[in-house]
Amino acid sequence: MTRSLTILGATGSIGTSTLDLIRQSRDNWRVKALTANCSARELAALAIEFGAEMAVVGDEACLPDLREALSGTAIKASGGAQALCEAAASGADVTVAAIVGCAGLAPVMAAVEQGGTLALANKEALVSAGDILMDAVARHGATLLPTDSEHNAIFQCLQGNDITEVRWITLTASGGPFREWSAEQLGKATREQALKHPNWDMGAKITVDSATMFNKGLELIEAWHLFPVGLDRLRIVVHPQSVIHSMVEYRDGSTLAQLGPSDMRVPIASCLAWPARMDTACKPLDLPTIGTLSFFEPDEERFPATRLARAAAQAGGAAPAVLNAANEVAVAAFLAGQITFTQISAIVARTLDEGVPPAPTSLAEVLAVDAEARQRASRLMEIA
Ligand code: NAD
Ligand code: MG
Repeated sequence: MTRSLTILGATGSIGTSTLDLIRQSRDNWRVKALTANCSARELAALAIEFGAEMAVVGDEACLPDLREALSGTAIKASGGAQALCEAAASGADVTVAAIVGCAGLAPVMAAVEQGGTLALANKEALVSAGDILMDAVARHGATLLPTDSEHNAIFQCLQGNDITEVRWITLTASGGPFREWSAEQLGKATREQALKHPNWDMGAKITVDSATMFNKGLELIEAWHLFPVGLDRLRIVVHPQSVIHSMVEYRDGSTLAQLGPSDMRVPIASCLAWPARMDTACKPLDLPTIGTLSFFEPDEERFPATRLARAAAQAGGAAPAVLNAANEVAVAAFLAGQITFTQISAIVARTLDEGVPPAPTSLAEVLAVDAEARQRASRLMEIA
């Protein structure tokens, strides 16, 4: 049976990994909409290759290029924030949410509101607007499938079990490229060093987040919304080989884990085929070659991100949205060479310390909290 698919953020790391899977089972899929921020030519090439009905750029300034690249085809080209939401609401059976950052929040909400299946990679949307999004998922009867490898692992380990019998959920973390660096070395970490992840090949923002451990902090908040066991039952363990993607321990002492290669096509395939399975061309897990799996407690002195994220979740309300916004601004500044590596967590901490607005009750209020926190974080960087 053919199913229809929309990919928000089709030109990114998750987007292209998804299209790689579709390429191998072309007859099973009909592509409705593909989106990008700009990258008009790349987006147009993908839209043509996959026979998409619609191609959308978030940045309207890139629309003329997209139109030109699609001229002579029947593919509809559009641009801007509203057009992204229209693509998200294209009525696809499966929508893959793979925009990076809070920029993906409104399209994610538009996809949720149409019901259907949403494969969510865009963790920042859930961190910023978790309660509102999860309410909307329930209200619209949408199926939310976690694509983030840890959450996909937990989701799989929960199948056929009762969540009230969970003792612990353990998120594994690779520890990133600086796992063994001293505080002094971290102060001098460069952009190039931060962009070299030992296990995963990903977009720039999440790669820096993995180096600071904000990725695990965001994932803790993501898990807190997706799997309602309470913050106290969520733990993080550093596991440098990234073979175990996460674990669920039940009250009888049984721990279920999901293992796999460090290849996002595995969790994406699990979402695309769910509740069935599909073939992938991923290199199978070769445990004898890997040899050893090791585990460590996270060091929250050198990497304060997970502590900040847990505190933001405990504070609740707008705190996770403020944490996320400040982190997005700080990561962009680090990538632009404007602040040092250790300033990222310092800026996030100071933005949260300055105070958190009341809990947002609508998408518009979350976006206002996000915008205000970005301004404050930017101002703090000017002073810093
Ligand atoms: P990426 O930077 O490689 O791609 C991002 C995509 O979003 C691109 O298509 C880009 O054009 C689009 N985009 C960026 N800014 C936009 C904007 N303002 N408006 C509209 N579109 C915009 O990022 P990625 O690594 O693929 O990550 C995507 C999301 O998936 C992130 O939330 C990330 O945390 C999550 N995720 C990624 C991985 C991974 O392996 N890459 C793993 C787990 C979770
Ligand atoms: Mg992850």
